[in-house]
Amino acid sequence: MPQQPPIPFDNTYARLPDRFYSRVQPTAVAQPELIELNQPLAEALGLQPDLLDAGPGARIFAGNRIPEGAEPIAMAYAGHQFGHWVPQLGDGRAVLLGEVVDRGGVRRDIQLKGSGITPYSRSGDGRAPIGPVVREYLGSEAMHALGIPTSRALAAVTTGEPVWRETVQPGGVITRVATSHVRVGTFEYFYHRGDQEGVRTLADYVIDRHYPELAGRPQRYRELLTAIIARKADLVARWISVGFIHGVMNTDNTSVVGETIDYGPFGYLDTYHPKTCYSAIDRFGRYAFDEQPRMAHWNLTRLAETLLPLLSDDEDRALEIAREALDEFLPRFEAAHHASLRAKLGLAKALPGDVSLAYDLFELMAEQQADFTAVFRALCEAGAPTEAPERFAAPARQHFRNKGPFDAWARRWADRLQQEARTNGARQAAMRAVNPKFILRNHLAQWAVDAATERHDFAPMKQLLDVLQRPFDEQPGAEHLAAPPLPEQRVYQTFCG
Ligand code: AMP
Ligand code: MG
Ligand code: MG
Repeated sequence: MPQQPPIPFDNTYARLPDRFYSRVQPTAVAQPELIELNQPLAEALGLQPDLLDAGPGARIFAGNRIPEGAEPIAMAYAGHQFGHWVPQLGDGRAVLLGEVVDRGGVRRDIQLKGSGITPYSRSGDGRAPIGPVVREYLGSEAMHALGIPTSRALAAVTTGEPVWRETVQPGGVITRVATSHVRVGTFEYFYHRGDQEGVRTLADYVIDRHYPELAGRPQRYRELLTAIIARKADLVARWISVGFIHGVMNTDNTSVVGETIDYGPFGYLDTYHPKTCYSAIDRFGRYAFDEQPRMAHWNLTRLAETLLPLLSDDEDRALEIAREALDEFLPRFEAAHHASLRAKLGLAKALPGDVSLAYDLFELMAEQQADFTAVFRALCEAGAPTEAPERFAAPARQHFRNKGPFDAWARRWADRLQQEARTNGARQAAMRAVNPKFILRNHLAQWAVDAATERHDFAPMKQLLDVLQRPFDEQPGAEHLAAPPLPEQRVYQTFCG
């Protein structure tokens, strides 16, 4: 009987016209070593994990061996980076091996990142240091465990080759899996070259593959825009709900299926401040924590521009349609955001004043530099709202230096909770299911990165992967991984690779 190939490829993007991509081979590396293989994901993708373990997996996921059925390509795209137009970007250090249809019937891309130069590398080396590979692996798997749409990490390898950045670092390759690697910047690439046929072909591809319910409908391009806007609004609300800051929300890093992609200089809030920005390359705070909804809208406006010719033959009408669609972003975001604020505070009903109650807490947290994740998790432990606030919300109270303003807030929250029908126990359980105990805190990511980079030690990465798999559970042995950083552990800047 013929052996099944290790990866059951079924490719579609490589069937699109030539100008959508460049065919390219990954560049083999000196000494591939498999650091991590995501077994459950491999199985969900219908891969043969036993064929991928150790030797063969290391070679495939380093790009040294092209598995049967793969058709490696680098995708062409453009983008606005920090607001500036860049007509040609493209996969400069990534190669799409191909697609598989997973066990749930969803078509997913399998891509190597850090696999060598491509026609889009410009002055780059096409490589990734192991540190950013570890960060992306942890970042995407932690995001998935939080239930937030994201690309996934299938494998990580070290290459045995040095990568030159500010210092010499060991090289790595990450294999990531995404529902799509089509970005807003992919649409921009064709639109800004005046390639209207290219935009249409891409839009039809995206509809067929990702929004099949729209296929054949007379208003499908308008509906596509609306659907992408809705997914992006929901995604940003989810990021905000866990204190995530993407860090480099350029249009080329904005997926058209509403998944988190391109984990570079991302971070999570420690102490709450709405203008938090860790990204070393974001000098003006364009993508700061609370700027993210506005920046998502800006990116979607760039997408809408590319679709104008498809929206109507009449230019004024096309503009009107695009504006109407874009105007749906803010209400959609706010509805999702406000629902998440209520859930985080254990409020099942929606009453006037709920949102200001949440924002007044944020203001207190900002003033007193309280830890975002720890405060919300501690609020889950609040007891009977009939008790005095210093007792009722004692676990959260500890996180505030100045008790008076917190007690005043807690009294308001307690009053509000008394308008709820749920028992305290039911409220606590519901709150624990939306307020994570364990997030990939910046100093934890740094710990895993340093161990990998300096000592070829992947134990911290593995330990974090294990704990972050269950972010909402109490894990008694792992309390120290829930704690906010000590002052000397704090990370103020995060970097791309
Ligand atoms: P990013 O900011 O990581 O989304 O990357 C922006 C663009 O730079 C994309 O076209 C990347 O493929 C490209 N790029 C980033 N790093 C490298 C590198 N080391 N070598 C080649 N291209 C790169
Ligand atoms: Mg080509
Ligand atoms: Mg990118």
